[in-house]
Amino acid sequence: MYSFTLERPATVADAAKLAAGGAKLLAGGQTLLASMKQRLSDPGQLADLSGIKDLSGIRREGSTVVIGAMTKHIDVANSADVKAAIPALADLAAHIGDRQVRAMGTIGGSVANNDPAACYPSAVLALGATIHTNTRKISADDFFQGMFSTALNDGELITAISFPAPKKACYMKFVQPASRFALVGVFVAQTDSGVRVAVTGAGNGVFRHTGLEAALNASFTVASAAAVKIDSADLNADIHASAAYRANLISVQTQRAVAKMLA
Ligand SMILES: Cc1cc2nc3c(=O)[nH]c(=O)nc-3n(C[C@H](O)[C@H](O)[C@H](O)COP(=O)(O)OP(=O)(O)OC[C@H]3O[C@@H](n4cnc5c(N)ncnc54)[C@H](O)[C@@H]3O)c2cc1C
Repeated sequence: MYSFTLERPATVADAAKLAAGGAKLLAGGQTLLASMKQRLSDPGQLADLSGIKDLSGIRREGSTVVIGAMTKHIDVANSADVKAAIPALADLAAHIGDRQVRAMGTIGGSVANNDPAACYPSAVLALGATIHTNTRKISADDFFQGMFSTALNDGELITAISFPAPKKACYMKFVQPASRFALVGVFVAQTDSGVRVAVTGAGNGVFRHTGLEAALNASFTVASAAAVKIDSADLNADIHASAAYRANLISVQTQRAVAKMLA
């Protein structure tokens, strides 16, 4: 690990000032500290967000659930509000990594990091969530921009994410057993604006599958999902799975999600 200094801001404004000056934001450290230990990252200065009370917690605003950026996965998994309004989101959080990761990892860190195999980005995209930062609100459709890349500007801080409650939703994750990330994960949501299907683990970053969305908007059945041919051309191929295998998993996981939602 390279040497670094640690700041502990008490307010979002102080954290933003540090970030604007070049400090790297530290949430639960589940990705950042690991990459620093491997000398893949040399931030020089860290701004630890854990002392900023405003960034943690979950609240209902009508039919919307607002989750503070520093809220841990375990707290999303156990939240009565999330379980009542968006049970699929609580279930997703309950199956991230292992207990230690869920006890330290945060929703803001996960979404800002935008790992192409992370679970939360698929929920954010499928549910049409809004990412709140210290300067603006960004819709999920505009936020994710490919592998480890987002619409956040340098020094911009996620403060919360708001999720409109869907009519129904389901996340189906096919676990990569070594990392516990998604080899392929599919989040299906029936929203006020129709069915949205977001895929993680399979491509260069989370993406919506317009073919599956069109088929499921026309007929929300397992057969309708199964009839969609999934193109493997732009999908990942690595030692864990070929692109064709991932394409098949997108179809199978979508069918499973639809079956569960109809049950
Ligand atoms: C063994 C293991 C298994 C895992 N399994 C899964 C899994 O199954 N599914 C899954 O989805 N994830 C998984 N993860 C990822 C984990 O859930 C964390 O959310 C992720 O690693 C980010 O960690 P963190 O929240 O501690 O953020 P950090 O590591 O502290 O930060 C990550 C990045 O986000 C930036 N950042 C943090 N907070 C903010 C903010 N509020 N605003 C702007 N930028 C910010 C940081 O500067 C840094 O660049 C796993 C991680 C590990 C180590």
